[in-house]
Amino acid sequence: MSSALPNSVYARDVEYILHPVTNARKHEEVGPIVIDRGEGIYVYDDRGNKYIEGMAGLWSVAVGFGEKRIADAAYRQLQKLPYYHTFSHKTNAPSVDLAERLVKMTPASVNRVFFTNSGSEANDTVVKLIWYYNNARGKPQKKRFLARTNAYHGITMVSGSLTGLPVNHRDFDLPIIPVTHLTCPHYWRNGLPQETEAQFTDRLIQELEDTIAKEGADTIAAFIGEPVMGAGGVMVPPEGYWPRVQEICRKNDILLIADEVITGFGRVGTTFACEHFGIEPDVLVTSKQIASSYAPLAAVIMSDAIYQVIADNTAKIGTLGHGFTTTGHPVSCAIANENLAIIEERGLIENARVSGAVLQEELAKFRDHPLVGEVRGIGLIAVVELVADKANKTRFDPVGKAGAILFAKGHEHGVIVRAMGDQIAFCPPLIITTDEVREMVRRFGAALEDTYAALK
Ligand code: PLP
Repeated sequence: MSSALPNSVYARDVEYILHPVTNARKHEEVGPIVIDRGEGIYVYDDRGNKYIEGMAGLWSVAVGFGEKRIADAAYRQLQKLPYYHTFSHKTNAPSVDLAERLVKMTPASVNRVFFTNSGSEANDTVVKLIWYYNNARGKPQKKRFLARTNAYHGITMVSGSLTGLPVNHRDFDLPIIPVTHLTCPHYWRNGLPQETEAQFTDRLIQELEDTIAKEGADTIAAFIGEPVMGAGGVMVPPEGYWPRVQEICRKNDILLIADEVITGFGRVGTTFACEHFGIEPDVLVTSKQIASSYAPLAAVIMSDAIYQVIADNTAKIGTLGHGFTTTGHPVSCAIANENLAIIEERGLIENARVSGAVLQEELAKFRDHPLVGEVRGIGLIAVVELVADKANKTRFDPVGKAGAILFAKGHEHGVIVRAMGDQIAFCPPLIITTDEVREMVRRFGAALEDTYAALK
């Protein structure tokens, strides 16, 4: 009740804030849940309710909430050098330490770092740098990006153009750059009747080749993809997909960009998902778990070949005309360094494999449930997709009807999941134990039963 008081956080939120990814009119009606504090895999609201954060915030709090080592590292850096920029030959030790650490962790194909504040800015930076690179090497017509439907690469004007979700385009006049969205590599939903998974892969590869032939390789700059799609519905691509995409890109002088904003730093059980799928991208994009989102930070890591062309062009023009006030922010970078040290010291990538195996196993038990169309995932990321008609994979009308109920029921049972339409996502902190995974899934199961009853 206290949160409904006129001057409460609750009341002032409704009065003053326009929330991202929220129905504003519904928000005025139902108000916010005020998250007050967090500890480990749990967050608490201002009414004292305790939730398992089954989404690690937004796929991001790898080390869990309330990690004192990170708070201390941030405080030390704030006292020593709270801010400095990295323009015009200035630098700071935390950003250099982090860049070195990233180059050592990432696939050998990438080794030069550009820092931004968010994943969206990182993907905008990727497009700008690749255009700059192609202009510099005398290929100004190479502008088009290949992405996929259901992809999520951010929401700024350019990264939002790469995103392949209609809700992120609608009424925003996107896309604004030349982009072709290829078929989402999701066999269960997009495979044809009678088509095997291998045939589905062949068809996706054929589509890529046909698109290149139609547009002309000399007009296509790059292919961007999340190795495992996240916000579009946790789609794990079919066997063999990524190496074949890489091969075709290489053959056609099309750069391959791995958007590892969600999958980076252990989420799928390897340091980066590129390792799991056996690819060596020309550009790798990271954010979220880089700093467990304790501070805004993202990094674009590019190949030496791209760097060399860009560097020559900056010499020709006199500077690189791109950068943010907070590029290489010392506090964000100090936080990231401590966060990545914790991930390493506590063996959290190995834990993602161990707890991830239990997550996939426990969720698989819902496969026969009448509301469940598909359970899919890898490591510590998964989705349970709810359907109106199991046999025909029919979506709910309207889409999101069941997801919204389950999302709310989840809160009642003390678990925060994410409903992307009727796809219920799990992406808990990498610190989660196997027992905690079982408890999280038990709470989800209770919410699922309530949802089933409510829909009858
Ligand atoms: N790329 C991927 C794969 C993401 O999942 C996200 C965010 O969820 C972004 C880019 C955009 O990151 P941000 O929200 O920090 O702009």
